[in-house]
Amino acid sequence: MPEPASPHLMVGDAWDVWWACTRAGLSASELGIDLRLDDGVRSTDPDPGEGPDPRQGSVVVLAECGRCIAAVRDLTRRAPNDTTDPDRWSRCGCPARWARRMREHDQARPDQDRSERTDPSAAWRLSIGVVKPGADVDAVHELLSSQFQIIAALQRMLSDRDVHRLYPEAYGPAFRRRQNDYLTSGPVHALVLVAPARLTIRQHQAAKMAVRKALGGTDDLRNYLHMADNPAEAWCDAQHLLGPTAAQLYERYGA
Ligand SMILES: [Zn+2]
Repeated sequence: MPEPASPHLMVGDAWDVWWACTRAGLSASELGIDLRLDDGVRSTDPDPGEGPDPRQGSVVVLAECGRCIAAVRDLTRRAPNDTTDPDRWSRCGCPARWARRMREHDQARPDQDRSERTDPSAAWRLSIGVVKPGADVDAVHELLSSQFQIIAALQRMLSDRDVHRLYPEAYGPAFRRRQNDYLTSGPVHALVLVAPARLTIRQHQAAKMAVRKALGGTDDLRNYLHMADNPAEAWCDAQHLLGPTAAQLYERYGA
């Protein structure tokens, strides 16, 4: 179980919570998240009589739309396992706007450098490289070996639910259908990667992009390799694809 995030982290959109719960495979309460409508009570001046006690490490999410708060609360009461597109759950239009903002951010940065919206000091050792169907596993193995020790390689078929957990929302329903068909069309290879020392976000991203480039392209869909862009998502992928073994690896490598 991960440590809860910093007390009173504020997130502007309820769907970010749904995303985090889906990726982690955990409920909001298991992640220490208390979802609240933005009623003007800011984290700097919390009402001690209401909401979670910040000393317990809870995360308060302040968001604008009551309908989405209710939808996300409902969806994250247990670990999310509904693979429906988010915009089906709420008729206010917020999920589609939220997804568009995410996509626009990515498309504005074709190098997929997302370090500016994540703690720049974040660095980690353990990651999972998922070699997508049809990609040259040996070539990926060799390319990643220059920076990582590859301590295990697992072959498996992904289910629709696996794909949904890896990519809860990606470029809209049409893209998601194509992505799902592609990622379930053949086995993937999950490579368990351990760097000799903690690598920064930029170093992890550079390793991933170097593989994609060497194998022939950076197309959004058929790009050969999935690898997390931050330590939180690396943790999610390890939990997802390795199960209980992930906890042992994190203990061993202090990842
Ligand atoms: Zn809404």
